[in-house]
Amino acid sequence: MLKEKIETVEKIEFIDLKTQQKRIKPQIDQAIAHVLKHGQYIFGPEVKNLEEALKTYTGAEHAITCANGTDALQLLLMAHNIGPGDAVLVPTFTFASTAEVVALEKATPIFVDVCPKTFNISIESVKEAIARNQHLNIKGIIAVDLYGLPANYPELEAIAKANGLWLIADAAQSFGGKIGSSTVGSLTQATTTSFFPSKPLSCYGDGGAILTNDANTATLLASLRNHGCGAHRYDHIHVGLNSRLDSLQAGILIEKLKIFDEERQQRERIAQFYSNALKGVVQTPTVPETYTHAWGLYTIVCPDQTRDTLVSHLQTHEIPCNIYYHKPLHLQPIYHHYPRAQNQLPIAEKLCKNILSLPMNPYLTDAQLEYIVYHVIDAFN
Ligand SMILES: *Cc1c(COP(=O)(O)O)cnc(C)c1O
Repeated sequence: MLKEKIETVEKIEFIDLKTQQKRIKPQIDQAIAHVLKHGQYIFGPEVKNLEEALKTYTGAEHAITCANGTDALQLLLMAHNIGPGDAVLVPTFTFASTAEVVALEKATPIFVDVCPKTFNISIESVKEAIARNQHLNIKGIIAVDLYGLPANYPELEAIAKANGLWLIADAAQSFGGKIGSSTVGSLTQATTTSFFPSKPLSCYGDGGAILTNDANTATLLASLRNHGCGAHRYDHIHVGLNSRLDSLQAGILIEKLKIFDEERQQRERIAQFYSNALKGVVQTPTVPETYTHAWGLYTIVCPDQTRDTLVSHLQTHEIPCNIYYHKPLHLQPIYHHYPRAQNQLPIAEKLCKNILSLPMNPYLTDAQLEYIVYHVIDAFN
């Protein structure tokens, strides 16, 4: 039975951190109280414990927490010694951080188009970008797992290897995703993630981490995130950042990680519900065979010229929805002058006009989902 009236359902949250908090409040309170008691606000035992838990969860050999997902990317670029004269391939259809960190390091981001079905970096466009920018010193690729779907790492690894490039996974939206039985964090050489409140695994503020199997990179990152310190706290052997994860946030994350798998299953249930109900009405997300989507966001593609109508219809019926992102990075004035795979990156340009993310959180009820799909379908009638 599809629900038509808002009175029949509880208020719908796009991302519902309140219900999650209610569920684990005693554990969160205890974790916070524990930090307040021992008083090691920076590099308290929670930080090490979380890093161990992240290693166990992802299968990566090393986990280095830091202040946020943007710093995680920047720290990796610093570890790879990226600077003026270097270039890095990045998808144009992503959050700004992915390209921002390259520009911050005074290197050149090269914008690459994405696949129309997976929304992730296009292998064809990567090849074009490499062929077209031979005059630049291309050093690496940052792939993004947009909305939570891992990028095509097997093919990206092959291209990276053939061209002598490193490959970084920007997994800010995909913690918990998989390809086959391998989990995000161990799908490629180095992975970054974010614990920003709206991400699949989130803390109560900013947080991030880097996952890698490379011991030397891990040691370097542990120094770079803490002012480039050496064995002694006041020996400085690198120019680094102040980018540490607070003990408080680590303690909160440890508790949230305990319910994370069950939450991911709920996200899966919701995604299945949406896709079954909306198939044929809009373009529903594609999940390639053997891939596990983290469902950080559930994003549909509207038929041309229909998104505005759908958005206002949903707003009228108090259904929150969001556009990630309304403009590809190569069309942002501040990034416009950087090189690209082609003059136009048509897939990303078109997606930005038509994509829309529906409410996605583990605590949506069947009644709420029925209400949402009723009104999505109704908007097209
Ligand atoms: C959120 C996000 C980041 C940045 O993470 P912060 O923790 O907010 O710095 C980077 N890349 C992508 C794709 C993101 O979605």
